[in-house]
Amino acid sequence: MSNPDLEQLAAHAEAVREKYESERQKRLRAEGNDQYVALSEIKDFDADPYTPLVEREALTVTTDVLIVGAGWGGMTTAARLTQSGVNDFLVIDKAGDFGGTWYWNRYPGCMCDVESYTYLPFLEETGYVPTQKYAQAPEIFAYAQLLGRHFDLYPRAVFQTEVVDAVWDEDSRRWNITTNRGDRIAARFFVICGGVLHKAKLPDIPGITDFEGDAFHTTRWDYSVTGGGPEQAMDKLSDKVVGIIGTGATAVQAVPKLAEASKQLYVFQRTPSTIGPRNQQETDPEWFAEMSSKPGWQQERMENFSDMTTGRKPDIDLVQDAWTDLLGEDLKRIPNDAADAEGLEILNVKKMDQLRERIDEIVLDRETAEKLKPWYKVGCKRPCFHDDYLPAFNRENVTLVDTDGHGVERFTKGGVVANGQEYPVDVLVFASGFELLTFYTHRLGFDPKGEDGVPLSDAWAHGPSTLFGTNSRGFPNMFMNSPIQGGQDINFSFPIGQASKQIAYIIAQVLKRGCTKVEPTPEAQDDWFSVIAGTVLPYGTYLANCTPSYLNNESAAPTDYEMKLGAYMGSVRDWLAILEAWRQKGDLEGLELQP
Ligand code: NDP
Repeated sequence: MSNPDLEQLAAHAEAVREKYESERQKRLRAEGNDQYVALSEIKDFDADPYTPLVEREALTVTTDVLIVGAGWGGMTTAARLTQSGVNDFLVIDKAGDFGGTWYWNRYPGCMCDVESYTYLPFLEETGYVPTQKYAQAPEIFAYAQLLGRHFDLYPRAVFQTEVVDAVWDEDSRRWNITTNRGDRIAARFFVICGGVLHKAKLPDIPGITDFEGDAFHTTRWDYSVTGGGPEQAMDKLSDKVVGIIGTGATAVQAVPKLAEASKQLYVFQRTPSTIGPRNQQETDPEWFAEMSSKPGWQQERMENFSDMTTGRKPDIDLVQDAWTDLLGEDLKRIPNDAADAEGLEILNVKKMDQLRERIDEIVLDRETAEKLKPWYKVGCKRPCFHDDYLPAFNRENVTLVDTDGHGVERFTKGGVVANGQEYPVDVLVFASGFELLTFYTHRLGFDPKGEDGVPLSDAWAHGPSTLFGTNSRGFPNMFMNSPIQGGQDINFSFPIGQASKQIAYIIAQVLKRGCTKVEPTPEAQDDWFSVIAGTVLPYGTYLANCTPSYLNNESAAPTDYEMKLGAYMGSVRDWLAILEAWRQKGDLEGLELQP
């Protein structure tokens, strides 16, 4: 290399690489995911603060389809079943209403982090116009209720109910499902839409149950403590010292609201997030009418956003936001040669430099600004975008407690210990995230028993086996809407909606053909795994030297199970094309059907 500018850039990139590695080393923890404990394991933390329990009689019913999960997965599956002419189904959920994530996440400031015009399912069918480019959580929850009414799902909903067991009965060719409300449901088909990031977790550190003040996870926000509501200022915090643990996508949205309301706010940080600009906009109804005038507009917009954020470079950027700007180049691809690798690394550093410079421009205190700087590659953690998060640190009543990668050490009766110092707090908020790569049945909270009574946890002990992520041999008539060997995208609702289409199609086909049993062949599963494995390599290689996070299994060495857990990591559009071509062929290739 003889160009002095390039030499300088390469030297800078090398220095940054070393900094990334030293910061990563600080955060490596032998216990990986075991550093967390599920919210449900700590008494009282997991209770539903939003809907009082309604007593009801236990159900004894038969139905064609039982769907578990009333979030986007369950709702879009139900809607697609209806569109396919399958109307005999029930939807069960632990929550008190539709919405899934948007039922539970009511923390102040909660909003969709991708554009609502591409995110909210079925906008074309409902004709709903989101009020803002990034819809706020109450609007999204209300939209879930609207979808429930639009597709007439309420009469088929069984809320405040958790599946405790599901057993395949070969004689009747049905799943026998029991619940915590004493229900007994016999269903031809059992569809698990158990959510993606739904099982909340807490740091498993000493003293968590000793704290005597008010404490809750962001996904169970306690407005009786804070006052106010998702859309009203919290009026009970003006004399309270509040601590928030975590600085991920949730905290980034909640901190500005807590900063406005609290007497004093401590933000306990282990690893900073990247904070790009948000540029929230009200929806211009004329623009929306024009933009949505062509049939198929929303699918096109979802596809365009996916292409823009996976480096496929379509001719036009329909969404034009900080996501498409940040991820317009595919930084995770395997480089062609050494020069290409260097170019990719320099580009990556430049993008992160811009984000670090943005902190210097906004945060006034130099020491705080330095501590807020993220030292890892683009996308090692889910990128965040917000216009009020960084300015919150300019307030007198907000203190960043950076733990230099070590995290909070323990809790006392009256506060939080970090960096060897106790910080007394009245209210403790855990923005400590959700499980992603833990064992599927652990996250579901039940363990389906398939043919010969074999539990899914045994069948998958050495890793999942599926066809397209939706069906697994040995578990006839059972379907999964999940990223395990399925599709994934920045816009979660896109692959979820596509898996629903696939599941509804197969169920409708099996019924139409007068069959009673469907499951994939072993060969089809093996073939599918080969396809998956081919897509995981570039992404896995990229994430391998990332700072630990739920995306890379907290950097712990993968178990056999985790080795096979990956989603289709190529573009979701390729996964979608595979499914569409498969449905077009119409012969249900790879599935075994029995009369
Ligand atoms: P994350 O897992 O992203 O964040 C958890 C935070 O807790 C991290 O900052 C983590 O630090 C921190 N933490 C864990 N243990 C400790 C400890 N002992 N001491 C101090 N800090 C600790 O969870 P989020 O809920 O923020 O986000 C999860 C995902 O949910 C997002 O990535 C996104 O996909 C989704 N989400 C989507 C939204 C939307 O609008 N669509 C909004 C909010 C969330 P460290 O980084 O070091 O691990």
